[in-house]
Amino acid sequence: MYTDCVIGKEYFYEVIEKIAGLIEEKRDYLTELDAAIGDADHGFNMSIGFREVLKKMPEWKDKDIKGFFRSVGMTLLGKVGGASGPLYGSFFMKFGEPGSGKNEVTFQELFEMFKQAVQAVEQRGKAAVGEKTMVDALRPALNAFEQAVEQNLQPKQVMEAFVDAARQGANSTIEMIAKKGRAMRLGERSKGHLDPGATSATMILEVFLECFPY
Ligand code: ADP
Ligand code: MG
Repeated sequence: MYTDCVIGKEYFYEVIEKIAGLIEEKRDYLTELDAAIGDADHGFNMSIGFREVLKKMPEWKDKDIKGFFRSVGMTLLGKVGGASGPLYGSFFMKFGEPGSGKNEVTFQELFEMFKQAVQAVEQRGKAAVGEKTMVDALRPALNAFEQAVEQNLQPKQVMEAFVDAARQGANSTIEMIAKKGRAMRLGERSKGHLDPGATSATMILEVFLECFPY
């Protein structure tokens, strides 16, 4: 299954470059979302992290996929302040692991990468679906990926289902009362607002679709 679908290192470089650009573009929007239920720094935090990633990326050109994402994750971990730094740091560090010693991965391995990344966020943040965090975008997206693979959908359609589920999941945070993170302190008052982390996570997954070569 999916034996013809091989994804090279250049895809991952392009994805990271585009994420960095998108974060820059959406920086103020993400910060506004965080102003409503947090401390108004999410866009700012993410922008600092991805600017540093962009700056250092040329040094990582010769690394394998695991090494590349390890560097991305370590940089985010070191530079992104707030709760989202360690979460996205873990996401990208784990994401690369199935790419150990490889310059390309199969579509099946790409699924494994997302799986490890999402599980890493869940383990680190101890949040579950329904608690108004980035997990509300990431977990449904991963489940949709798995289901679409079980249905033998084409890789592109799998990626579309993945991103659709993330968007729906992020939107579902509007009605939620935060149970994790800074927004938790607002209790009922956190209702009626989109979660900033679920929004940035969806933007990130959208780039994986946008750049997808199939
Ligand atoms: P901080 O809240 O420390 O200021 P950011 O503003 O950068 O950090 O990020 C806030 C986002 O982090 C939230 O919108 C939420 O999606 C995510 N988040 C916070 N805590 C957790 C957690 N325990 N698990 C998963 N995501 C979390
Ligand atoms: Mg914040």
